[in-house]
Amino acid sequence: MDFDVVVIGASSAGLFAAEILANNGKKVALFEKSDLVDPESRLYIITPGLFRVMPDINPALVRHKISKIHIQSGNEKTKINLSSPDVILDRKELLLDLIERAKKAGVHIHTESEFLGFNNNKANPGIKIRNKDGELEVRSKILISADGVNSRIRSEYFPDKLLTVPLLQAEIYLPSSWDENTTRIWFNVDSTPYFFWAIPDKNQKAVVGLIAEKGVDIRRLLDDFLADQNLHANTYQSGVAAMHSPGTEIETRIGDIQVFFAGDVAGQVKVTTVGGTVTGLFGAKAAAEAILTGASYRERLKSVQRELDLHYFIRNMLEKMSDDDYKKLIRSISPPVQNLLSSHDRDGMRSHFWKLPLLQPGFIPLGLKLLLKTFV
Ligand SMILES: Cc1cc2nc3c(=O)[nH]c(=O)nc-3n(C[C@H](O)[C@H](O)[C@H](O)COP(=O)(O)OP(=O)(O)OC[C@H]3O[C@@H](n4cnc5c(N)ncnc54)[C@H](O)[C@@H]3O)c2cc1C
Repeated sequence: MDFDVVVIGASSAGLFAAEILANNGKKVALFEKSDLVDPESRLYIITPGLFRVMPDINPALVRHKISKIHIQSGNEKTKINLSSPDVILDRKELLLDLIERAKKAGVHIHTESEFLGFNNNKANPGIKIRNKDGELEVRSKILISADGVNSRIRSEYFPDKLLTVPLLQAEIYLPSSWDENTTRIWFNVDSTPYFFWAIPDKNQKAVVGLIAEKGVDIRRLLDDFLADQNLHANTYQSGVAAMHSPGTEIETRIGDIQVFFAGDVAGQVKVTTVGGTVTGLFGAKAAAEAILTGASYRERLKSVQRELDLHYFIRNMLEKMSDDDYKKLIRSISPPVQNLLSSHDRDGMRSHFWKLPLLQPGFIPLGLKLLLKTFV
């Protein structure tokens, strides 16, 4: 079987790249190891960047909208109004929709088909797939690896393994005193160098979760937090998220096959929030456009990469913060800073982030202190 492009992994990045390529006349085969019948549900909070990368997204996928973010550290708190709301989606509904779009575009989707590696013909390697009937070999000069954090290609060909972090969130009933249009964020560095969140869904439901460091008992941290907040977990959603770091490889060549990495496997994840859906879709689009036009993938990805690098820089600063620093930071969020933060979403921060010290000179000493901690 010969294809113009082979895509590995039928999640948001792989499906979107495959759809764009097929819509532009390419013969595309997508191989996914699961059966895709009932993808796992997971509540996603996504910035309006979603509509920039996929303007024709099915509006019915938007379950709920979030217009405010409440940030807290100890008793210090503030609110940021979002001029364009964040949207709440269910991963399962998004994937089922993307599958239909890809099929309509003409993508050959093969489920229960696991990519195993390449045959050992160095110049012209075949792409080995195992399905229910056994092993087969397909051929293509271009392969998109969109197979997530545990990518076989990445771990085989790039010993520089991706950085990853564990995530856990619990579904809860939203307390009646909490606003259903407000996301809540709590910083508590004793529990996590990241944060806890509560993201409301429709019908008075919500998810409460955290990102933690590897090796800690994330379930105990979440259960303690839920108990403190007087909340009760109905079910849990867990997983591992990739982390961007500057210099992560995004393409390679194996024999005469050009390999593009897109989505989590390419570290296309904002490391401040571990949101990877929008950036992964941008990565998928850039890879597809590079294939269609012959332009460089790195060039197509430049603006996303810069955005990801900014999040990496901010994350490095946040890593160094104490609870007192967080309190100071929250106190410094003056009305002009709030205005700036409210008018640009987390997928479009690069152009305005550097204006913050002008609006709030109080950020300068804190920033310098954190920079010193970073580099000394
Ligand atoms: C609990 C949790 C909550 C999250 N919440 C958010 C959120 O609110 N907002 C947000 O933006 N992001 C969120 N994320 C991150 C988001 O889920 C990822 O960034 C996104 O799913 C990455 O998509 P992807 O297409 O790169 O790969 P993945 O979703 O990781 O999918 C990879 C696909 O490749 C397939 N595959 C793997 N190996 C093979 C193989 N050898 N052969 C064939 N197929 C293979 C897998 O089965 C899978 O279908 C969350 C992540 C977790 C874990």
